[in-house]
Amino acid sequence: MTDPDKDFRDTIPTVDAAGKRIWMYPRKPPTGKRASPDAPNYYTLRTWLSWVLLVILVTGPFIKIGGNPLLMMNIVERKFSIFGIMFWPQDFYLFALAMITGFMMIVFFTAAWGRIWCGWLCPQTVLMEMVFRKIEYLIEGDARDQKALNKQEWTQDKIIKKCIKHGVFFLLSFGVANLLLGYVIGGDALIDLITDSPTEHAKGFFALLLFTGLFYGIFARFREQACTFVCPYGRFQSVLIDENSLVVAYDYVRGEKRARKVKGETWEERLSIGKGDCVDCDLCVAVCPTGIDIRNGTQMECVNCTNCIDACNSVMHKVGRDPGLIRYASMDQIEKKTSKLRLTPRLKTYGIIMTALFLLLSGLLIARKSVTMDLLRVRGTYYQVMPDGQITNFYEGRFLNKTGREMDGSLELLNAEGQMLYSDQHLYMHPQEEAESIIVITLPRDQLTGTETKLKLGLVVDGKRINTTTTTFLAPGGGS
Ligand code: SF4
Ligand code: SF4
Repeated sequence: MTDPDKDFRDTIPTVDAAGKRIWMYPRKPPTGKRASPDAPNYYTLRTWLSWVLLVILVTGPFIKIGGNPLLMMNIVERKFSIFGIMFWPQDFYLFALAMITGFMMIVFFTAAWGRIWCGWLCPQTVLMEMVFRKIEYLIEGDARDQKALNKQEWTQDKIIKKCIKHGVFFLLSFGVANLLLGYVIGGDALIDLITDSPTEHAKGFFALLLFTGLFYGIFARFREQACTFVCPYGRFQSVLIDENSLVVAYDYVRGEKRARKVKGETWEERLSIGKGDCVDCDLCVAVCPTGIDIRNGTQMECVNCTNCIDACNSVMHKVGRDPGLIRYASMDQIEKKTSKLRLTPRLKTYGIIMTALFLLLSGLLIARKSVTMDLLRVRGTYYQVMPDGQITNFYEGRFLNKTGREMDGSLELLNAEGQMLYSDQHLYMHPQEEAESIIVITLPRDQLTGTETKLKLGLVVDGKRINTTTTTFLAPGGGS
């Protein structure tokens, strides 16, 4: 026999006692006339936002800021771009700091607003709930029709519906795989891959098919399990949120004791005998894509999709009660019946750390040079004494152009009078490439401070000195 207190929620709703998957059939959340007119309909708002996000997602690999991709994570070539700022292997400390700052932002926003990212912005939720799920509703109907279709024999109608649905899912997964690749290799490389014959990019094409299969598996079969089992974020929330975090929550003070509405019973009668506003209709459970009952409190599987808020608001409207039995609220607000959100010491600490990291990162990014320069002595060379007595040193210059634009630069000696010779006196630097040049520096003896003279050089582009470096100039000793 099971003890409901002891055994409560030691299983997840999508897996049965034998470990077998229980397929979820979430009902369409109420919108339009089915929705409550007394409260904002979050599903509609999320639909609008998802359109904006999908446009950004699709155009993202092709959007450039200052000639660099908006977002690029090229692990193979170790090139990363975030909001058009290119990170090279030399900038790894900045990339690491950006990641730590991002992590701190997640910690802060989760502590304050729960899993708002999951419900409103996460590509998995946006694609699953706003694209794939909607296509499924369109082809197979709402939850009840889907259940009936899956139970019925393989009729012509079922075969046609299943073929259309999975065909569309596969094509969309192919599109998503292309986009992912675009974020890895960049939009230009993706266009080359698409327009050239697959035989010219056999490896890329194979990777594309592999990811298509992966995405198809996720959106057609794996679904909510990706959030429950794979994504670590759901697990973090148990340590990040507390009674002051704003989450999708059931107002148990107002809702309990839940009970079905008895015909003819007035609200006054109902409340006088201890019944609450929850009419135990289970609509909040029926619309939940992860199959949980939010009335049991915040749970790991809850992605804060707000479907249960819309569903409950529509029920409250029908039974003549105020909306918000399920709403964005903290436990503190529910218990104290207040709308005030507490700025706790924990939240303040997270906010201060996040702001400090953000300012540090911004400062370092502003101070970061758009071109790095390194001057190394040509291996095996020391100095050369010219017939007129002047001394010459040979250097190998490396100039890394981190920007997305062509640059034509020149070098200047900053602390000595001398001659410099290098590639036609021009340094051509292609976008996001390293340019190399042999640099020959000749100095008269009166410019030397000894056998080793510290030289300071500047790199000038468009009449502006954009970087400086130092090097050592060797000369013979003893006046030889
Ligand atoms: S409990 Fe509500 S907000 Fe959470 S996943 Fe289910 S429907 Fe979405
Ligand atoms: S939808 Fe609202 S009224 Fe219905 S069971 Fe859920 S909380 Fe109760």
